[in-house]
This record gives sequence, structure tokens and C-alpha cells, in this order.
Amino acid sequence: MHFLVAGGGPAGVTACETLRRLDPAAEITLLCGEPGEPYGRMAIPYYLIGNIDAEGTRLRKRHGYWEGLGIPLRHDRIASLVPDRDQVILEGGERLDFDRLLIATGAHPVSPPIPGIDLPGVVHCWTLEDAHAIAERADEGSKVVLMGAGFIGCIILESLVKRGVRLSVIEQGPRMVPRMLDEVAGGMLQAHCESQGVRVLTGTRAESIAESGGRLAVATSQGEIPADLVIVATGVRSNTGFLDGSGVDCDQGVLVDEHLESSRAGVFAAGDVAQGPDLLGGNRQVHAIQPTAVEHGRIAALNMAGQGARYPGSLNMNILDTLGLVSVSFGNWEGGGEHQTLSLDSRDAGRYLKLVFDDQDRLRGAIAVGHTEKVGILRGLIQSRRPLRGWRERLQRDPTRIAEAYVGAIEASA
Ligand SMILES: Cc1cc2nc3c(=O)[nH]c(=O)nc-3n(C[C@H](O)[C@H](O)[C@H](O)COP(=O)(O)OP(=O)(O)OC[C@H]3O[C@@H](n4cnc5c(N)ncnc54)[C@H](O)[C@@H]3O)c2cc1C
Repeated sequence: MHFLVAGGGPAGVTACETLRRLDPAAEITLLCGEPGEPYGRMAIPYYLIGNIDAEGTRLRKRHGYWEGLGIPLRHDRIASLVPDRDQVILEGGERLDFDRLLIATGAHPVSPPIPGIDLPGVVHCWTLEDAHAIAERADEGSKVVLMGAGFIGCIILESLVKRGVRLSVIEQGPRMVPRMLDEVAGGMLQAHCESQGVRVLTGTRAESIAESGGRLAVATSQGEIPADLVIVATGVRSNTGFLDGSGVDCDQGVLVDEHLESSRAGVFAAGDVAQGPDLLGGNRQVHAIQPTAVEHGRIAALNMAGQGARYPGSLNMNILDTLGLVSVSFGNWEGGGEHQTLSLDSRDAGRYLKLVFDDQDRLRGAIAVGHTEKVGILRGLIQSRRPLRGWRERLQRDPTRIAEAYVGAIEASA
């Protein structure tokens, strides 16, 4: 049996380890697609702050780890998947046969199509190579423009501030992290960043970037912003291009079923590239976060090895710690429709809690700012899908009693 794993991120690495545990004799090949040992993108902010060096970003740090597992690490990328054969063609032209294939190729950052986007000094923050380029230019006092205040933009924001740069953030949406936080929470995050010296321009589009004498200038709908470095964090797209014509159905990612198998038998997908079941039901989703990648990788590997494991679905979940302000959102936090929303807004004290319930009193989504201690409870309640019967009115008066409600729900169902 030859297991071919494409992608050396958390999904691919977890899959390889699971496969080796299940089948000590199997042939397993890992195609990393990037130089060096598999690393975690999540560690990039710590590298930028200087808490770790490049070696510290490696997902598995022990020397000789991959040789020890008997898994050859190759740095190649797949160029295409042959339609009627269990075979891939690598970018160098080599063909590799497989019995089971895992597509764990993640995503790539996308750039807005504006003049100057390819200039030197305009970079993404996605790969370790990008991080090296940022570290070279983002010195104390340098002017940095961060295009995009989405999840990734906000994750790296703190490391840029800690490097001592003069930071301007441009976000075309009406608030920071508009796909993670509502108006109140996004506004709190913006006010917090501004209080720490970050200039935040929401509702602002970057229109072009120009270079003169080694200095950059970003023209925006609100005027021009000078920069030594421009970081583009305007979204990502799943790496599925090499699957065109292969018989693997894709939408926003590779469409996978509850076994994380694609429309083509024997071809599985995991992590940021996979569009799979959502824990709360509804359409299949890409939940581009590391915990989902790891769990996808594990379950896909179990199924590749014939264990018949069912994936219950991933929970949409984002956690940000921005210059000391912790904001989280889970599940269907937007509410609306048949959902009932309770919220407690004490933004002057830096705290906000929004709870969204379905018609059976089950928590379907939540936003919490400054309520660090409630993060685990909110997540547990949504995942358990326990009804909070009898608690609705009490929570209406004070949503912060959610921990008591959780205990009450457990006791009621015991
Ligand atoms: C700066 C930053 C900070 C982040 N912080 C967090 C965080 O705090 N919390 C969180 O949950 N998530 C965070 N994320 C997101 C998280 O890193 C991703 O969700 C996670 O890496 C997804 O894992 P993956 O294995 O699916 O894909 P990736 O980690 O992207 O790995 C994909 C792999 O596939 C390879 N590849 C691509 N194309 C091919 C090909 N054609 N052939 C072979 N190989 C290929 C790539 O080289 C790479 O090795 C962060 C991301 C970034 C960029």
C-alpha cells in the first residue's frame, strides 16, 4: 500500500503520523511543496516578535524525526492528478503512483488587482519566506502598511507593533475582522488598536502602490500613506488548481464527505484545502484554522487506512489576542432568522458578550470580547449542543451567567 500525502502543514503531518501508527509497514511519501522541514504558519507571529527562531517554527523539532518514521520528505509539488489513473505528475515532470492520496495542500494568499502590487517591498505574510522578508524590513520606526484587517492581518498586527513599527491598517470592510466580529466587537478591537498607537482605516480601499527612491506610497480612498513595507493580507484561496480535470469536485475547496473522501474514490482532502462538514449542519465549509486541519488530517488518515471513521464536522471558531484584548467568535455568531440573540455590551469596560440560540435553546454561536474565562465554556456548549432549558430568561438578564447555565444543562441531562 502506498499512501501519498501532498502538503507538509499540520493536516499532512498529522495524517502521516496517524498512517504510520496504523500501518508500520506501509509506504508513505510526504510531498511538502516548500523547502525545509514542515513548519507551522501559526508560529510565524512568534518568529516575527523574536520569541522563536526559524527552527522554532518547525512542526516536529526532533532531529531525524522523519527518517525515524520511515517517511521520505520530498519538497516537490503536484502539478496535476491524472484523471483515470491513481497517479500524480509532479512539477518537475516525474510521475508517482499511489493507492490512497491525501490532498492537504492548504491555501495561498490572494492579492487585489491594483497597480504596484508586485513592487519590491510589497509582501504577503503566509510562508516562512514571507516572514523573513517582513523581518528584514519591519524595523523599529519603519512605516508599515497592513492591507486587510481580516483574521490573518489581525494575527500579525501584534507582532508588527512589538517590532516597534509605525503601523497603518487599511480595511475595505466596515470594521476590523468583519467575517469574525460584529459591529460592536469589531469597533472595540479598532478602538483598542488605536489606543496602542495603530492607525486603523476601515471602509478604506487601497487603490494603487507607487515606488519612488526606495520608498513606497499606498494611494487609498482616504488619501496617500507612505510606507517602507506593505503587507498584503487580503484573503486566501484553497490550492485546488492542480485538480482541474482530475474528476475531483471542488467548490471553494475540495468537496469532501463525512469520511473526508472526495468525489473520487481513494482521494481524500484535509485542512485549509478541504470543504467539509460543519458541526452545526448546513452547507459544507472551509474552516481555515489549525485545529480543523489537525483533526481533518487524523480522520482522513484513519479512513485512508480503512478504519471507517466519521468526522462530526468542524466548528467555525476564531480566537485573537490583539495587544492584550482577547476576542473570540464561534459558530453562527451572526444570528438572525429564527435565532434569538442575547447580548451584554459593556464596551467601556472592554467587555462584550453575544449569545445566539436556536429555537431549542441550544447555543449556536457566540462572540466574546474581554471574557477570556468563558472561551472554553462557550465552545463546549456549542459543541455539546445541550439545550439550556429554563435558563433563557436568566441569561436574558445576565448572559455572563453562561457557566452556571452550562452546569445546569449538564445536571439536567444527567
Ligand atoms: C501568519 C499566520 C498565523 C496563523 N495563526 C493561526 C492561529 O493562531 N490559529 C489558527 O487556528 N490558525 C492560524 N493560522 C492558519 C493555520 O496556519 C492554517 O489553518 C493551517 O496551517 C492549515 O494547515 P494545512 O495543513 O491545511 O495547510 P498549510 O499549513 O497551508 O500547509 C499546506 C502545505 O501544502 C503544500 N503545498 C501547496 N501546494 C502544493 C502542491 N501542489 N503539491 C504539494 N504540496 C503543496 C504547502 O507547501 C504546505 O506545505 C495562521 C496562518 C498564518 C499564515
